[in-house]
Amino acid sequence: MARYRESLCRLCRSEGAKLFLKGDRCYSDKCSFERRSYIPGEHGQIKFRRKASDYGTQLREKQKLKRTFGLLEKSFKGYFEKAERQKGVTGTNLLLLLERRLDNMVYRLGFASSRGEARQLVRHNHFLVNDKKVNIPSYLVKMGDKIQVKEKSRTVATIVDAVETVARRGVPEWLDLDKDNFAGIVKALPTREELTMPIQEQLVVEFYSK
Ligand code: SF4
Repeated sequence: MARYRESLCRLCRSEGAKLFLKGDRCYSDKCSFERRSYIPGEHGQIKFRRKASDYGTQLREKQKLKRTFGLLEKSFKGYFEKAERQKGVTGTNLLLLLERRLDNMVYRLGFASSRGEARQLVRHNHFLVNDKKVNIPSYLVKMGDKIQVKEKSRTVATIVDAVETVARRGVPEWLDLDKDNFAGIVKALPTREELTMPIQEQLVVEFYSK
């Protein structure tokens, strides 16, 4: 399982973007990025930094996307290679593959307040996909799939708290959440325009295409 040793908020500040790694805190005024958006470290507050090279810019974008989904390099690169083998635009394919991960869908539906939390909950057997137990965070969900919290897991505090606060960040149009039954349907796979995270995926493609 991907495990970052650095403080999660420090990762956001390093990437110069909110990666939403700490659940509900990310949507509150306690977010460290909102309070201290400069790069961590001794020289972080120096305003005029050298312009990054093309390689540096591509690397940062790759790191940003990889960290958003909490993946380590080997597995992230595996998604890129898979995206490259698919028909269509590699960058869009990559975003879609990441988006289809079960832990991401659990997060998007609001059953967890962050992707990291979603990954833990999936591993701990709290979810069914099309009425079958699935405990693999990287499981790729398809259009029409139903994701549901297992009946006996519907009182788990982490899940209940996340469902209660889902309105704060909203559920994407392409998912259908049935809050009362702790279930969600993947109505459609998102288009690139519907994936609103601030990522320039072409830079990630360029990074790996050298
Ligand atoms: Fe990033 Fe969330 Fe920490 Fe803000 S609170 S810096 S978005 S992890």
